[in-house]
Amino acid sequence: MSDPKFSTNALHAGHDVKAHGGTRAVPIYQNTSYVFNDSDHAANLFNLSETGFIYTRLNNPTNDVLEQRLAALEGGIAAVVTASGMSAISTALLTLLRTGDHIVACNSLYGGTYNLLSVTLPRLGITTTFVDASDTANFTNAIQENTRAVFVESLGNPKLDVLDLKAIASVAKAAKIPFIVDNTVATPALLNPIEYGANIVIHALTKYINGNGTALGGAIIDAGTFDYGNGKFPEFTEPSAGYHGLVYHEALGPAAFIAKVRIEGLRDFGGAASPFNSWQIIQGLETLSVRMKHISENALSLAEWLQGRDEVTWVNYPGLKSSKYFKQAQAYLPKGQSGLITFGVKGGFESAKKMADNTKLFSLLANIGDSKSLIIHPASTTHQQLDDAAQESTGVTKDLIRLSVGLEDLEDLKADLETAFATLEK
Ligand SMILES: *Cc1c(COP(=O)(O)O)cnc(C)c1O
Repeated sequence: MSDPKFSTNALHAGHDVKAHGGTRAVPIYQNTSYVFNDSDHAANLFNLSETGFIYTRLNNPTNDVLEQRLAALEGGIAAVVTASGMSAISTALLTLLRTGDHIVACNSLYGGTYNLLSVTLPRLGITTTFVDASDTANFTNAIQENTRAVFVESLGNPKLDVLDLKAIASVAKAAKIPFIVDNTVATPALLNPIEYGANIVIHALTKYINGNGTALGGAIIDAGTFDYGNGKFPEFTEPSAGYHGLVYHEALGPAAFIAKVRIEGLRDFGGAASPFNSWQIIQGLETLSVRMKHISENALSLAEWLQGRDEVTWVNYPGLKSSKYFKQAQAYLPKGQSGLITFGVKGGFESAKKMADNTKLFSLLANIGDSKSLIIHPASTTHQQLDDAAQESTGVTKDLIRLSVGLEDLEDLKADLETAFATLEK
């Protein structure tokens, strides 16, 4: 087949049936190590002159299928899967950056990422300037002499801002620094950031890609489009003391980054994916395009319905005509705008908290992207450690409820929210 499309790749890419004993479903290789033919074979594997499996922290046949599949679905040259979304982000950044480097990031980021960039990485001497992504000039103005990465989320959570990836990519390109896009909320079924100039794509596989809330996982996907030989990345152009003098850019060309992620990043930081989790994530990935279509339809209908409720003061969903991101969503997410909705409840903090406490079908928990519908009141839970200014900049207001809409029947979801609304004072 010359150029299979998305759903075909989601089911088949990366799985050579013959190479896996004729298995129609991808098998779990639940092992840590691989027998070498002899010591020369082992030496060849270690010095990269031959490809093959060494140790599951570095590579594993089940993880390998998932990696090839994700690379195909995002249009990258290769991928590495990791233990969680956060390990994908930290491994990618620590592979790229050193003390003294600087990141420019959008200010509506997943809480874990925000903390990594604002608290933990500064301890290692890597700092971040957070900018409001609604104006691309903010990225240009924040870039410094020592900036070595631009980091954004394609569809921010909980702000649900759809970023102008193309414009931000051109800022990063002009500054000769890689553009990293966390595409977790949009998923590759709805958006491919590489088409708009992303150099590295990140996923928390934990969310929609798995879809069942059963396994943590992360992925780093390399577009293979960034020139690490441009003089700004000595880590890639000078002999690596960590890998017997290997000069990544020279030896591996466009695959320099993703190779370093695997052979140094996974080796040294150890955030390897569990093959069992990868296997579960592969089951989810098979149906991703069908689920994202249905989830997006459910979410849009529910958002429209919420707009007509007396208890609701505002609704934010990028698929709504009233959303200030509607135009951008039509351009970047024409196939659907995913499953997250935020809305304000009359009565503010107390009412919103009560609302979240009184649904039954919508489960109160701190995850997104499950096939089961979820609800949370961020101001009293996920974002409670942030002060008012930080809450404001991440788009969390006191009255805000976030829904992660699943695959249940729409009428049941509405009935559940109606029951919760009925508990609020008029
Ligand atoms: C959940 C999430 C992460 C982190 O993923 P984990 O698997 O929980 O570590 C990163 N980015 C986004 C946008 C997320 O939603």
